[in-house]
Amino acid sequence: MIPKSHPRYESLLLREKIVKAAENGYLADSAMIAHGRGEAFDYLIGEKTTYPAKRAMYVAVAALLLSNNPVISVNGNATALAIDEIIELANAVNAKIEINLFYRTDERVELLTTLYREHGYKEILGSLDDDIEYLNDIKNNRASASKTGIYAADTILIPLEDGDRAEILKKSGKNIITIDLNPLSRTSKMSDVSIMDNIVRAIPFMTKIAEDLKTQDKKVLIEMVNEFDNEENLKESIEQIKINNK
Ligand code: ATP
Repeated sequence: MIPKSHPRYESLLLREKIVKAAENGYLADSAMIAHGRGEAFDYLIGEKTTYPAKRAMYVAVAALLLSNNPVISVNGNATALAIDEIIELANAVNAKIEINLFYRTDERVELLTTLYREHGYKEILGSLDDDIEYLNDIKNNRASASKTGIYAADTILIPLEDGDRAEILKKSGKNIITIDLNPLSRTSKMSDVSIMDNIVRAIPFMTKIAEDLKTQDKKVLIEMVNEFDNEENLKESIEQIKINNK
């Protein structure tokens, strides 16, 4: 039990969630390395949501609300850290949720499917009984996607995604949004909207934004998306790391 007074309380709680998820068998072997990399970047931004991240979140939510078939792609880490919050966001923006694993095994897919169903989300895609198609005709697991989910999606939110998989998704012509604490990652660089923030702060904030933007005129949302420059916003995100450590 971590005492609340511990200076790294929040961070240690997240670590504990990742350790538990690994014990429960639904994380890939490299999941802790990915989490540690995220922790390091979170440390550098003071574990706070920066202004460029907020701006990207508004644009991301606008894009999700404007889409015909938005999908939130989830892996083990995202699920371990924010399963209920992901379900709430999906409901708020009317998006589907799809299990999308870089190292896909039947056992982990089954464990994650059960977890989403236990948390009240019955329509989870990417399960073992789902119809699978291959993006860009690449016949391997890295390019597999649910026929009614990612395969048919126009916008995909890919939190904590690996660069290889992000590249395949991007090449398939979809609008890509990522939540990634590393503004230098390949995923951040190739996405259309990159949110440099911790998934545990970003997802609930995006749900709040959705409640606000839902009442806005569609034209306002289109303008927000069109005016956004991801490269410029990533530069500002990197700048925030310097400002926070002066
Ligand atoms: P790339 O291939 O895109 O260059 P990578 O090889 O680092 O990046 P992975 O390690 O597979 O990709 O992906 C994990 C990414 O998720 C990392 O960039 C890490 O910073 C980020 N990350 C880890 N934990 C979190 C978190 N809690 N919130 C947001 N991002 C996180």
